[in-house]
Amino acid sequence: DTPHRHAVFGHPIAHSLSPKIHAAFGMQTGIPLRYDAIDAPPETFSDRLFAYRQSGGGGANVTLPLKGQAYGLCVEHSPYAARTGVVNTLEPLDGGGWRGHNTDGPGLVTDLAERHHVDLRERDVLLLGAGGAAQGVAYALLDAGIHALTITNRHPERADALADRIGKPGRVHVRYWKDLAVSGSWDLVINATAAGVQGEGIDLPFAILAPRAVCYDLSYGKNATTFLAWAQAAGAARCMDGLGMLVEQAAEAFAIWHGKRPDTVEIYDQLRGRPVAA
Ligand code: NDP
Repeated sequence: DTPHRHAVFGHPIAHSLSPKIHAAFGMQTGIPLRYDAIDAPPETFSDRLFAYRQSGGGGANVTLPLKGQAYGLCVEHSPYAARTGVVNTLEPLDGGGWRGHNTDGPGLVTDLAERHHVDLRERDVLLLGAGGAAQGVAYALLDAGIHALTITNRHPERADALADRIGKPGRVHVRYWKDLAVSGSWDLVINATAAGVQGEGIDLPFAILAPRAVCYDLSYGKNATTFLAWAQAAGAARCMDGLGMLVEQAAEAFAIWHGKRPDTVEIYDQLRGRPVAA
């Protein structure tokens, strides 16, 4: 069989785990595929995506900082992507063009609820960041039944824009980052900033954590160490990185392209460096 061709576009992209995850899904499901990581600075993305499709490329993923741009390049959007305004999964349409999906939100909620058994209902959630990833997950958290969502961002106008877009005034709030020490406390704090990826520190007061708080970093591996070390020092009851979300959003994308959702346990254990059950 000719392998299905897939790719992830982003900038930077060299350390992406997506090729490895999708290769494992292909083996597991018996679907032959090739999955490349394509570096695409924003000004080149549209041309590189076009060239990829012309050369036989199929379903693709999009990561930082291209998710908003990807939304604009799609001729159709799934209902969830249409709400978020950001796209991380591109499905090729038969007549040409792309249908955009967002699997980040469902991926995060599946990881939290099913892998980590975090009950999201009635949680007071603080979302750090208002970029593509934050936009993609905010709606899924609200859909999962959290009590309220507070958004804070280094550049506050982006937090305002996201809250306005969501438009649930009673359940969605915005706080200035600089005022967090006196703004309350939350029992789930989610880091959706790119500070870790960029090797930058993250300046947060311990006072934002409520007793028994859970902290989740969308980044994973060494990029998550700064936030998760802060969370531990601040007394979080549980800390987790975004590796599980990465695997779950990939499984959702695979299901969109191939109509089969692969099992994620084995590849998750493998990426964690755990022995994989026979
Ligand atoms: P974007 O470039 O779209 O947004 C970056 C965000 O990070 C903005 O809110 C930005 O704030 C903020 N930020 C950057 N540097 C700092 C800093 N030093 N201090 C505070 N805030 C900062 O990136 P994405 O939203 O696409 O990605 C964000 C993170 O989420 C990345 O680490 C990415 O790897 C991770 N991610 C993980 C996924 C997974 O499956 N596990 C899926 C998607 C993303 P400002 O607006 O003020 O510049």
